[in-house]
Amino acid sequence: MRRSPSPNSSPEALFLQQIPKLWPAIKGSLAQVRKTCLRPGCKACARGQKHPAFILSFTRAGKRRCMYVPKDLVPLFERALQNGRQIETLLYELGPRLLQEHRQQRGSGPEI
Ligand SMILES: [Zn+2]
Repeated sequence: MRRSPSPNSSPEALFLQQIPKLWPAIKGSLAQVRKTCLRPGCKACARGQKHPAFILSFTRAGKRRCMYVPKDLVPLFERALQNGRQIETLLYELGPRLLQEHRQQRGSGPEI
């Protein structure tokens, strides 16, 4: 019998059903900054107004890194960060579900 995804579906079914929907997914944080440019005599920079830019901060091998994100990719990155948080929420949910499934398969065990 094929089980439809429901709150009672197996943790594996839930995982396999949810993960493909959650691409693109990343972890990190997106921030808007203002940066100076290299153009000589730039008025925006002379006024201290500078130029808006987006930075993705993330951790790689335990080190904090930053990369500029092109403006037209910002909506995609915001969606990817949101999906990353949803995957994390899903993973937290799977631990208890895996234990519940195990208990159901071997009969009722004491709940801690
Ligand atoms: Zn400038």
